[in-house]
Amino acid sequence: MTLLTNPQNYEICFAICSMVVLLITVFVHLFGEHYYSRQNDIFGGLLFNAFCMNLLGLIHKVWIQSDFFKMSLSYEAVCVLVMLEKVCIYIMPLLSVIYGMAIFRIEFQSFVKKILIGIPTICSQVVIFSVIFTGFFYRFDENAETRYIYPQAVTIYLSVWFYLIVAAYMIIKYKKSLSTEKQMALVVYYFLMAAGVPIRILTRSSSIFEFSVSIALLLCVYTFQNPSEFVDLTSGAGTKKALDFTISTNLLQKKTFSLLGIYVDKLDVFLSEESIENSSELLRHISDYLKKMCPEGGLFYPFDSTFILMLPGADPDETVIEKTVEQIKIRFKDPWVLKNEEIKLFQSPCVLGFPTEVDSLERFNEIWNVMQKAFLRHNRDVLRLSDLNLKYVEHDKKIDGIVKRALEDGLLDVYYQPIYSPADGKYTSCEALVRLKDPKLGFISPAVFMPVAERNGSVLEIDRYVLDRVCEMISSSRIMDYGIEYVEVNLSIVDCIQTNLAENILGTLEKYNVDPKLINLEITETWEKNITDVMDMNLGRLLKSGITFSMDDFGTGYSNLSRIAMLPLKLFKLDKSIVQSVFDSETSYMVMLNMIRIIKSLGKEIVAEGVETAEQAKQIIRLGCDHVQGFFYARPMSKESFIEFIKEHNA
Ligand code: C2E
Ligand code: CA
Ligand code: CA
Repeated sequence: MTLLTNPQNYEICFAICSMVVLLITVFVHLFGEHYYSRQNDIFGGLLFNAFCMNLLGLIHKVWIQSDFFKMSLSYEAVCVLVMLEKVCIYIMPLLSVIYGMAIFRIEFQSFVKKILIGIPTICSQVVIFSVIFTGFFYRFDENAETRYIYPQAVTIYLSVWFYLIVAAYMIIKYKKSLSTEKQMALVVYYFLMAAGVPIRILTRSSSIFEFSVSIALLLCVYTFQNPSEFVDLTSGAGTKKALDFTISTNLLQKKTFSLLGIYVDKLDVFLSEESIENSSELLRHISDYLKKMCPEGGLFYPFDSTFILMLPGADPDETVIEKTVEQIKIRFKDPWVLKNEEIKLFQSPCVLGFPTEVDSLERFNEIWNVMQKAFLRHNRDVLRLSDLNLKYVEHDKKIDGIVKRALEDGLLDVYYQPIYSPADGKYTSCEALVRLKDPKLGFISPAVFMPVAERNGSVLEIDRYVLDRVCEMISSSRIMDYGIEYVEVNLSIVDCIQTNLAENILGTLEKYNVDPKLINLEITETWEKNITDVMDMNLGRLLKSGITFSMDDFGTGYSNLSRIAMLPLKLFKLDKSIVQSVFDSETSYMVMLNMIRIIKSLGKEIVAEGVETAEQAKQIIRLGCDHVQGFFYARPMSKESFIEFIKEHNA
């Protein structure tokens, strides 16, 4: 105890602290999930080396302070231990550089380079061992501390500076592929390693160096060794982040490679319907199988239903790729066996060559958007870049620019389409529809720009804007006095998965002092399949406030009716394609009739959309629709025209 309480012994306390930090790091490392084993092995090596260094240092320090130790361990033996500690210290910079290389996936192919990178370490090790034969570089004092003899002892530091320069070069060259936090972490890591050297020279204490090494390693275990970010825990394959990172590092290093995408038809639907256990077992099965087909760390599960394999070689006709595709095809002919089930899955492959076909991460993401859509229409041959209609990519880019500018320059507007209720004989609601007028291109239909806005996220801003305008209209006009009971506002599925959706909506209502009962949110039918916890939470909060919901475009998807029946909806909006086909055939008529019956039997109201003729209106109303919307009654119109319209028609 006195050994620890003596303030002179802070060195020992320091050494124990760094040992504790190190052990925590070892613990986190051992119990984490691992993804890229080369990086992992090197990290293990670093930890082991740091552990030895700490242990040897600790023994040395205790020996200096304790007479008991001095008696049991000879001076010569301690000198050897100190020498070994130095060996560990001067291996550290080399290991750190190799670790950095593993992070950036840099592998030296040539033997000469592998040797060259080790030479400075060999030199410093020679200096360390030289003490056995000569006291030219350093000698041991009475405490078995090393006493360097300058200037020749400087040689021992040269290797440290060499590796620092290599590390700095690496970070500067490949920093683009790392996030800012990771760049910082790497800089801090090397800084902590490097700072130890001058501190050692100044204080003649090795504890600070050991302590900073432990801290640096702890930093790594939570940044570079952090698996959740890079490993999809259910499938064990790499995440989208891991894929992005690997693509950009490979491109920076001018490697040629191909991405082989395996789209598994309806896998996401299947997974959402199965128990968690079954779905993760299935994902594991597939990913274990695919892992064997690609080099280590080359399998990713970045998007729903799609696996991506990274293969060497950029030419899509290369034999490796063809063979892999062929093998996968054969495997998918057989079902996947789970505990008590056999599952048959269908796959479609696609190949992209880097950098011949795709030369940047941005380009990959653009192309991938088009590719994913193409999967749905494509037969099951290998899909190539040349099969894609890349006009879509250009189109998306152009529309994206227009939407962004419209948002910045305030070129959006909200129109209102009145909705007629035959039973009341007046217009009782309306739908808010966004409008975009580009200065050069004129009006652009939301049917054109909303899908793009959904893909790139600007839909959030658009819908927030629309709701804001709607609330402003409600609070500034007196449409409620003229018989409008609520306003229907469209929500995109992208909105619904935002954690702050309910908060934002309720905030806007409050800002304009609008009663939530006056707002009805429309969500499309596809939404029903993608309900997540966040959506549930949003829905719950909004319903509680008094906002109602309706299902838009009903009849276009393939919804599970019994599930839909349970959703807390006020209205069903029959899609215009169904309404307009009512006279096409006997079958269409029967489909429509039965849909209306089902909805009515659930006690919900129906809106028929897209009513264009008097004949359609007559039939639809006869079939029992509660509300009708369409050009026959009124087109979407500006706020001013709408207020005029309502005053005139509902008077
Ligand atoms: P939607 O929600 O189904 O909206 C109804 C669409 O049908 C509107 O097209 C409307 O102008 C059109 N329409 C109304 N009556 C008739 C008719 O008798 N015949 C025909 N052929 N069409 C009729 P619009 O305004 O071009 O909007 C297209 C789609 O864009 C909307 O379909 C909706 O999905 C989306 N959208 C529009 N505004 C917004 C918005 O503010 N937010 C979101 N998330 N989506 C919006
Ligand atoms: Ca709608
Ligand atoms: Ca609709």
